[in-house]
Amino acid sequence: MSRIRQQNVFAAQWTPDGAALGTTDLTVADNQVFGENVFSQAVQRQRLPKDVYKRLSQTLAKGEALDTTLADAVALAMKEWALEKGATHYAHVFQPLTGLTAEKHDSFYAPTGEGTALASFSGKELIQAEPDASSFPTGGIRATFEARGYTAWDPTSPAFILENPNGALLCIPTAFVSWTGEALDHKIPLLRSMDALSRSASRALKLFGKEVGRVFTTVGPEQEYFLIDEQYYFERPDLVTTGRTLFGAKPPKGQELDDHYFGSIPERVLACMLEAERELARLGIPIKTRHNEVAPAQYEIAPIFENSNVGSDHQQLTMQILQNVARRYGLVCLLHEKPFAGINGSGKHNNWSMGTDEGENLLDPGDTPHENLQFLFFCTAVIQAVNKHQGLLRASVASAGQDHRLGANEAPPAIISIFLGDELEKLFEAIEAGTAGQSTPESFLGLGTPVLPPLPMHGGDRNRTSPFAFTGNKFEFRALGSSMSLGLPNTVLNTIVAEAIDELASELENTLAAGGTLEDALRPIIQRSYAANKQIVFGGDGYSDDWHEEAARRGLLNLRATPDALPYLIDPRTIAAFEAYGVLNERELHARYEVFLEQYITKLNIEAETAAALARTMLLPAAVRYKAELLAAEEPGIASETGERIASFLEVIRALDSANLKENHPEDDLLEHAHYMHDVVFPAMGAVREVADRLEKEVADDLWPLPKYSEILFIK
Ligand code: ADP
Ligand code: MG
Repeated sequence: MSRIRQQNVFAAQWTPDGAALGTTDLTVADNQVFGENVFSQAVQRQRLPKDVYKRLSQTLAKGEALDTTLADAVALAMKEWALEKGATHYAHVFQPLTGLTAEKHDSFYAPTGEGTALASFSGKELIQAEPDASSFPTGGIRATFEARGYTAWDPTSPAFILENPNGALLCIPTAFVSWTGEALDHKIPLLRSMDALSRSASRALKLFGKEVGRVFTTVGPEQEYFLIDEQYYFERPDLVTTGRTLFGAKPPKGQELDDHYFGSIPERVLACMLEAERELARLGIPIKTRHNEVAPAQYEIAPIFENSNVGSDHQQLTMQILQNVARRYGLVCLLHEKPFAGINGSGKHNNWSMGTDEGENLLDPGDTPHENLQFLFFCTAVIQAVNKHQGLLRASVASAGQDHRLGANEAPPAIISIFLGDELEKLFEAIEAGTAGQSTPESFLGLGTPVLPPLPMHGGDRNRTSPFAFTGNKFEFRALGSSMSLGLPNTVLNTIVAEAIDELASELENTLAAGGTLEDALRPIIQRSYAANKQIVFGGDGYSDDWHEEAARRGLLNLRATPDALPYLIDPRTIAAFEAYGVLNERELHARYEVFLEQYITKLNIEAETAAALARTMLLPAAVRYKAELLAAEEPGIASETGERIASFLEVIRALDSANLKENHPEDDLLEHAHYMHDVVFPAMGAVREVADRLEKEVADDLWPLPKYSEILFIK
């Protein structure tokens, strides 16, 4: 394993220790800036009394609860550090099920009663706070008599300072729990799933002769986003209210010319990116790459991977910083999955792997036969897990925004499949078939090769249509939406892979008990598992009609829309796996299922109401005025054509109004309601849009009230 990669896995373990990370291939951060606003391990070591630092590290390593004296000591050091950095307030930052970040600010200063104020911050305030939880979605977890929830410090994700022109805020990453102990957020299940995977993988590694302290899951998200001029943004009530344009005709020049992708970045945009990256660096977020994306005005930013928990917190922060900094440049950052119809939407590639505390990546094929065997074992586990839980994986990325991408002729398809790359797929096929190689007497799983051929590192790039691709030393789950939290998809991945690792490890224990070499014991297990699960493996074009037919023949799920996918959150197989690994119990899963359905319904309802209002109060009047002008100009021919268009516009608007009527909504059953939104309301909105987009091309430009795609996308 290369030094840099090793260092990355290492740095990913706990808090990003500025010194360790800053030496890798960062593009912006010079070492002084990197992590300067983070209460990192390095700062802790510097500021905490030696014994306190040692006790804190030990507590963290063992995952034990903090005692109050320890918490008081840490709080004191944290407060002093934060005050020096200009902080006046602190906030417990958490991720409620909305997927957004929530924070409540409290002042450090309390009045003394003598007309002065004293800065105080105790261990208790560090460890726990009680935000008014009643305004966050809980899916019925919280009984009305106990409406409170509390946030609890997550010491494994570093505290940091968020700056504002007029002050600074100490942010403390926290988990959000009900008083009955149930998870109300995305962090708790993620942490539980990381523990589960660590247990399973450590157990399996023993069979390969390795004792490790812990196995971490790692995540490196590639975030796509749009930057547009804020003037156009504020002139589009649909963008402001829903995050996407509900109207807008395709511009004469779209993304056909492919001249934007990897093209040079416009100066204002680059300036904005540089500042965002600098801010991120100060927060200890190691940004690695940036470039233009396929669509005009679309860009991508990717950090160096970190452990799933820290990486997920950092990803939330990245979205926040991108949006904040954009405004300083007169830009608005759009994170919606599909801001513009007919133009590529935005996703988030979730690069995922497992690494030991020694810095070994378990999905790295390595270059010795022993490493190869171990790699094949873990790779088999991933294939088995993804095939068994394809519906759940699809559900973990379902949302109203995602319905425009997944299954809608855009990357990637709604059918979950795995791309292994030619070399690896051939290898698995050969193991399954038991075909021994001829060339040498030595065998690698009976293949005739002592070691695996080197696999190309960027194999995934050759197949951009796969939702789940092996890319050399990690899997890339590409179906995440650009606005999503990393929490749920990674929780799902960790949990289902933990389950599969345990299943395979049990088999391996049994076969090893019968004697023979590791290789002999492993071969039949991989053979069986691959044969049973290879239906999920597909290397062809994921967008083609052929694949849809072939996938149906294979019996793979094709869950096109959110209401089709979400029920897999409460599938018996999901409940069994999540309960067995203590990640989420049945009630917590049900809560999520309900919250996500509710969010889907609410979002579509807001869109539909906005579309109807805009059509009636902005677009229809423009068309009517145009008709009047035509009549005044004695152009009865065009006027009558416009009149016909107006009549059909009114018709579809009325149909949308009727679809929006409360009494037409099946409100008693959430799932039925979600299907209604998808099957009735969504198409009604589409029908209004279709006529509106025609009108946009017909009505005099000076009368059209909304900025057009050609302006929004090409003026940078
Ligand atoms: P691509 O070829 O997909 O454009 P890169 O090589 O730039 O991608 O990497 C994409 C992302 O994958 C980066 O965020 C990187 O940190 C991340 N990544 C690399 N190795 C791992 C790993 N072992 N675990 C998780 N993420 C990883
Ligand atoms: Mg990628």
